Amino acid sequence: MLTELPITHACEDPVKRMAFLIRPFLLCLFLMASSASHGQTIADLYPQVREFFPHADRFGALEGEPLAAEIHQDGKLIGYVYLSGNVVRIPAYSGRPINTLVGFDMDGRIVGVRIVEHQEPILLVGISEERLHRFVHQYQGKSIFDQIVIGGGRDDAVAVDTISGATITVMVENATIMRSARQVAESRGLVPPSAVPLAVSGRSEREEEKSHEERKESRPLVSTAPGRPMELSSANKKKRTGANSLTDKSKSSYARMAAQEEPIWRVAWRSRVFQIVVLCAGLFYLSLILFFQDWLARHPKLLIYMRDGFLLYTVFFIGWYGLAQLSIVNVLTFVHMALHDFQWENFLIDPMMFILWSFVAATLLLWGRGVYCGWLCPFGALQELTNQLARRLGVKQWEFPAMVHERLWAVKYIILLALFGISLQSLVDAERYAEIEPFKTAITLRFQREWGFVFFAVGMILVSMVNRKFYCKYLCPLGAALTYPARFRIFDWLRRHRECGHPCQVCAQECEVQAIKRNGEINPNECHYCLDCQVTYWNDHKCPPLVEKRKRRERSVRAKELVLGMEQVIGQSKMDDSPCNGCRARDGENP
Ligand code: SF4
Ligand code: SF4
Repeated sequence: MLTELPITHACEDPVKRMAFLIRPFLLCLFLMASSASHGQTIADLYPQVREFFPHADRFGALEGEPLAAEIHQDGKLIGYVYLSGNVVRIPAYSGRPINTLVGFDMDGRIVGVRIVEHQEPILLVGISEERLHRFVHQYQGKSIFDQIVIGGGRDDAVAVDTISGATITVMVENATIMRSARQVAESRGLVPPSAVPLAVSGRSEREEEKSHEERKESRPLVSTAPGRPMELSSANKKKRTGANSLTDKSKSSYARMAAQEEPIWRVAWRSRVFQIVVLCAGLFYLSLILFFQDWLARHPKLLIYMRDGFLLYTVFFIGWYGLAQLSIVNVLTFVHMALHDFQWENFLIDPMMFILWSFVAATLLLWGRGVYCGWLCPFGALQELTNQLARRLGVKQWEFPAMVHERLWAVKYIILLALFGISLQSLVDAERYAEIEPFKTAITLRFQREWGFVFFAVGMILVSMVNRKFYCKYLCPLGAALTYPARFRIFDWLRRHRECGHPCQVCAQECEVQAIKRNGEINPNECHYCLDCQVTYWNDHKCPPLVEKRKRRERSVRAKELVLGMEQVIGQSKMDDSPCNGCRARDGENP
């Protein structure tokens, strides 16, 4: 009978037999491993916590609600460590929270902070680990009950320095650290300072402060603001033994602190009032240009000044100062959020970007992608200005033949599709590959990066000196992405003559991005709305149909003048031939 059992059958295939034999062994290993990881302490998982508490002799496991690990020394509880991702999940710039390891002691002092996981594009590619470490290191020694503000500016708060170019990210990180720490402290029964009575048995605040050290000796204290002692409540002791919660007073203190906290996006908007006002003023100015484009096209000198001035504003204010360079990463993040967990707060968090995207969305539907690419993109403006400079310096321009040029348009769409495909698998990978955009290097980080990135960005700008907006025409995935909503545009305000393309090619030759087809039509997917062709459209010394009309007009004026002149001459000669009144009188006629 044994020969009929599966094991006998397995004997025929040695590989299967081997697998059959080792399966129970693997199962045992798996169970052992899983039980081991279940009992792992926080120091096993994150050895950095040993630096937070160098004198600790026992590290607990993550447990309780919310998850946090107790840290002991000589049998005494000396602090807690937790992962912020287990406590609060505040979406940062990428739409994902920044997972941070935080430790604080029983005085409520933060003893260590380490970022263990994040998907912030700016931090992934632009900010070095050292700068990040320096930023979070500022929290060491601060109280979890301090009001901490990025950059300062408030007397009642403690200031920490920001990371240039990553303001939104550090604001979110600040809120993540502070809110999570308070939640853990509250759950473990630590009482905030405002919940501790300052005057006991008629003693003054000063006396109370003096006795702070004595009380620290006699029982575990949690002091927060300087000189303001905070104690571990009896409720805490109960909690640690599995009993219930905090006093009403400490609860209300936590509630008050939470209520005092503003949503991050409101803080961000308030802290950037100047930028918001200047940006809105700039967008209003651009709207005026668009609405009065026909009148301006007939005043080309004024239009050139206004356009070049606006391009400088775009590079310096929107780009290098406001760091509001839109990117394909924003588009991919938006699509992912729309598919998963859409929250307006994630977009409101950067006011410059929010206003700019809102304006761009409106202009896409009204005029197409050209308004952004021709006027509002800092990298596009940088290319355009350097090209203008090169042309003034007499640098010879070079363009691909029309057929090659039109084939190369496809490259940017292929890049866009590739990035979108990668983002479906991993947004982080897509963000890395989105480095095809030199925006971060040239605008957000102002060329302060590794030489490889700088080489690419500078290379693109140099190429644009001989081939106008080379990067925009052939490589930019953002420009490609903007063409899709622009297909629904409402207005078509770029004027054309019947003769455009039949046979006239003047505008087509001049167009900065070669967006005018041989038949004279403007390709709205490629047009950057520079209005050059509109200036030509109204120029009766350049636009051949208008030149012809003008010449006809001038000929007819000249002909009229000639006729008038002849009439005058004839009239004069008639007058000369007719006798004057004096002669008539002399001849006896009645004048
Ligand atoms: S094509 Fe890209 S780089 Fe060029 S202006 Fe448009 S968004 Fe900017
Ligand atoms: S010249 Fe005309 S068609 Fe070409 S980019 Fe400028 S506005 Fe568009």
